[in-house]
Amino acid sequence: MITLEALQQAITERIERYNQTDFPVSKRRVQTIDLLECQNHILAEDINSPFNIPRQNVSAMDGYSIAAGSALDADTSIEIVGESQAGSPYTGKLTAGQGVRIFTGAVVPDDSDTVIMQENTNFAEIRESIDKSQPYHITLTQAAKADDNIRKQGEEIAEGEVVLQKGKRLNPADISLLANLGVAKVKVYQPLKVGVMATGDELVAVGQPLQSLALAQIYNSNTPTLKTLLAGLPVTIEDYGIIPDNLEQTVATVTTAMRECDVLLSSAGVSVGDYDFLTTVIEQLGKINHYKVAMKPGKPFVFGELLGDSDNKLAKPVLFFGLPGNPLSTLAGTLQLVIPSLWRLSSVSADDMPMVRTVQATLDNDVRKSAGRKDFQRGVLSQNSDGSFTVKAFSKQQSHRIKQLSQANCLIVLAKDSGNLAAGESVTVQPFPWS
Ligand code: AMP
Ligand code: MG
Repeated sequence: MITLEALQQAITERIERYNQTDFPVSKRRVQTIDLLECQNHILAEDINSPFNIPRQNVSAMDGYSIAAGSALDADTSIEIVGESQAGSPYTGKLTAGQGVRIFTGAVVPDDSDTVIMQENTNFAEIRESIDKSQPYHITLTQAAKADDNIRKQGEEIAEGEVVLQKGKRLNPADISLLANLGVAKVKVYQPLKVGVMATGDELVAVGQPLQSLALAQIYNSNTPTLKTLLAGLPVTIEDYGIIPDNLEQTVATVTTAMRECDVLLSSAGVSVGDYDFLTTVIEQLGKINHYKVAMKPGKPFVFGELLGDSDNKLAKPVLFFGLPGNPLSTLAGTLQLVIPSLWRLSSVSADDMPMVRTVQATLDNDVRKSAGRKDFQRGVLSQNSDGSFTVKAFSKQQSHRIKQLSQANCLIVLAKDSGNLAAGESVTVQPFPWS
């Protein structure tokens, strides 16, 4: 059975070929959206700054802006002849020995080359006696030097400079930058269309009543879980509902989905049960690149691609991710394999792929583990007062335990060949993205 790392590598290589050949980034559709909607979308243009930042020489401090050529030694007395406020500059002239009161972000007058912070003057002592309608004197309490406390025009960003490059995954800091530049709309790649289908005769859609107890029907929780896990990605989701365990209906739904979507995700129906039709259908309409992965939960995972049927070949392959049915397996497979793949498919630049965050933690209890598969055990991670982490693993780790999943805040990652671990040992932990 392929290791998780080898499967991740194989999927990554397939997606790199897909992005180069099957659906090149240069051929992707682009759409213009509002700044406030662009978080987590992928920028499809370079953004050039329309102006210098700062636009003018501005003060970095509240204090006094002193005329060029003034003495700047401690005890120098300066005549203050006016004021420059943010949004309301001083327009008069200044000669050596003169200055103006100035505030952070206000324009430094042309004749001035130094800003003295008010803490380095006798401002505090004379504050009460100042009559702003008249010139007054302040005294420097420390020596200053030319250029102090001035943010020079264009110092941070020059007009025309590229501040964000095509392929950037837009985040709140990027939105701040764009807003500072007055950019109201941005061009982003059109989100990929991702089909989601659940399979199983026992499933009932949330919102519908369960039938008689004898049928042991259960609610389809995987579709809501998947939609929520993918909510922050640049994808649009097409929900194909619940497909019964029936070959014809499975073929019909997969056929529709492959014509409408870029990627198809399914849950369940990929085990070796007599009613698990999905693998058959994928082989009929495309191919299976990998089946089963040495991870727990999540072993019966399918990575394949749909190519079309005999009458109708698809213009481009539709990548297929078949997740196992157990809610926990679906979640683990989505976190480890599907989400990174969807980001890679999204045309995000390689250096801006989201990181999978991990921390090292000390086990609070003994953990049972048999060698052979990489385990993702559920646990509760907490941070100690010295900043280190402790993790408590749940004693029961079966993949159908849904209450426990909601009580956990992390996955404890145990290497494939590791055996049991004792309390006190160090382990790698992936906090859930929402923890
Ligand atoms: P299967 O892979 O079809 O054998 O499903 C494995 C287990 O997952 C079975 O117990 C199913 O009832 C359960 N299961 C399958 N699909 C879902 C779903 N969409 N929501 C919740 N549980 C599911
Ligand atoms: Mg089933």
